[in-house]
Amino acid sequence: MTDVWQKCISSSGTIRGVAIRCTDLARDLADKHELTGENARAFAEALVGGFILSSYTKEGERMNLNIKGDGWVKQALVDAYADGTIRGYLVPNPAQPSTGVTFDFSNEGPWGKGLLSVLRKRDDQVGAEPYIGTVPLLTGHLAKDLAFYWLQSEQVPSAVGISVNLDWEGRVASAGGFIVQAMPGATDEEIAGIEARVVSMTDLAKEVSIDRDPVHILSQIFQDMAFVILEKKQLKAQCRCSWDRVRRALVLIGPDELQSILDDIGEASVKCEFCTTDYKADRAELEKLIAETKAD
Ligand SMILES: [Zn+2]
Repeated sequence: MTDVWQKCISSSGTIRGVAIRCTDLARDLADKHELTGENARAFAEALVGGFILSSYTKEGERMNLNIKGDGWVKQALVDAYADGTIRGYLVPNPAQPSTGVTFDFSNEGPWGKGLLSVLRKRDDQVGAEPYIGTVPLLTGHLAKDLAFYWLQSEQVPSAVGISVNLDWEGRVASAGGFIVQAMPGATDEEIAGIEARVVSMTDLAKEVSIDRDPVHILSQIFQDMAFVILEKKQLKAQCRCSWDRVRRALVLIGPDELQSILDDIGEASVKCEFCTTDYKADRAELEKLIAETKAD
């Protein structure tokens, strides 16, 4: 099995859906960020959420999902691109109890109260106004709050499901989800039918834990409603950082600040929050940068 999204539309053209399987990249990224247990689960949920958002972007667009809450996690930030690549990081809530404590999420979801923001942007158009939509975390459950975002900000009635299973070590064992949406022209009957099947799909966790092609999720949602697969896309984790970008960021600090870094520490260290790569500018490199900024 590989990480993919499967995108489909009903033959009537009025109901569209995407199902996602991203077990491998979610596990790898959580491991890289040294997240386990509920932190790993929350991070993988945010990654599935990012793919749900980016599955309907145009080529060259980036979706940035930023969740800030007061639950288990303080912040999760995910950049997802139309080409199926993703990167992200998570800031655990420092107030969370030590691992091993079982949380009661029956009243409020693990994300707690806070804000869910979505920023849609083209990285290749400098100065282009990004689209930003923000909604409150209503339930603390990411899938439900994403459905609310879609209705509130994009006026598209949607049902969202996200599931992450952990193994005995607290690592991601499987991660996936879906979004299904009513397009203009969808009949009440079609919407009611889809709603009923989404509600009856009580065991998404079980389906995701089988870890098979996500087309099976679509089959369960659409059932007797004929649908056409529009796209099957390979998903992967990919960061966009580079030494060149780090260098440009350092130049922006200015010659005086760079000089004091050189005098006090002797080297500059910049860690990418997304992929944890550590970029270092040694003494010689710093001197070169200072000379360049002074020359400008
Ligand atoms: Zn990076």
